[in-house]
Amino acid sequence: MAKELIKVELKNGLVFNGRKIYVQSMLSKPLNNIKSNIEQALELEAAGCEILRVALLSTADIELIKHLKQHISIPLVADVHFDHRIALAAVEAGVDKIRINPGNLGDELKIKQVVAACNQANVPIRIGVNGGSLEKQVSGQNFNCEADAMVASALRNIELLEKFNFRKIVVSMKSSNVVQTIKAYRILRKKCSYPFHVGVTEAGVLKSSLIKSSIGIGSLLFDGIGETIRVTITGDPVEEVKAGHEILRALGLEKTGVEVVACPTCGRTKINIEEIANLVESKTKFIKTPIKVAIMGCVVNGPGEARGADLAIAGGDGCAMLFKKGKACGKINESEIGKVLLDEIFNLSGGF
Ligand code: SF4
Repeated sequence: MAKELIKVELKNGLVFNGRKIYVQSMLSKPLNNIKSNIEQALELEAAGCEILRVALLSTADIELIKHLKQHISIPLVADVHFDHRIALAAVEAGVDKIRINPGNLGDELKIKQVVAACNQANVPIRIGVNGGSLEKQVSGQNFNCEADAMVASALRNIELLEKFNFRKIVVSMKSSNVVQTIKAYRILRKKCSYPFHVGVTEAGVLKSSLIKSSIGIGSLLFDGIGETIRVTITGDPVEEVKAGHEILRALGLEKTGVEVVACPTCGRTKINIEEIANLVESKTKFIKTPIKVAIMGCVVNGPGEARGADLAIAGGDGCAMLFKKGKACGKINESEIGKVLLDEIFNLSGGF
């Protein structure tokens, strides 16, 4: 593990390697539809997206950057490939970070121009290596595995920027293969100190992405690797943001919001645990106060979980015992359990 990680700061003061881990997502609307992109950006920001990326295909798309910057308050990252003029225009339009692969921008003069513009505007560059699109200088070589090839590509691109004394670098190396992704980041962490953006790419639709991303991102975060994360989902990017925060919560890296612990139910269950858990989770999504709620089907594990929760119920026959901070506070009828829990959460959160 590299001894001291390099801190990279965005213009708005957000710092990578300050040990807060940021959740990213990406716009998915057609670039010429400015209105729908703004709506999606605002929806993502409201859902807790902390860094937003947009792909730019031509300099004509810079118009979208200007509109987005007027409407959102989170940092905006421009994703650019092949054409350095788009990167230059994006920096001039005020983006907070650009994602490029210096190696695919063309000759060194073009890289030098982008570096100079980023230096002047204080804009970091994310080197975004993707296992599926490695540059020919790397893909033409023989490597033992995809992870080794991605690391070689990352080091090559880092060198291209360092050559011009550029150090505001963030690196990502994403593969659709979870194991190769984890391996690549672990290897590179030993070789460089730049902040990492981590994620498993092309992870699929909701269910498969949640599994692949939780394993990939979760393993790396557990190792202390990763300063920003993105869960990629084929579908609504709001789900990416929710999943990102859930991964952080599951690892204890984020303490905000209502955490619902619910038992899987078994033959002892006599109340509708699933319905109560879904109700509590869906109605408390926007609460920021950290509150842990345990929804348990019986007294076997109920009191034990209640001890570590702010609120808990342990189901009985048509009723449940309510616990506050581990203390039993009387029985409630099954029909009232949801309402009682929501009222108690409301009180603890100071209103929502
Ligand atoms: Fe079954 Fe009780 Fe465990 Fe729920 S808490 S799974 S009802 S034993």
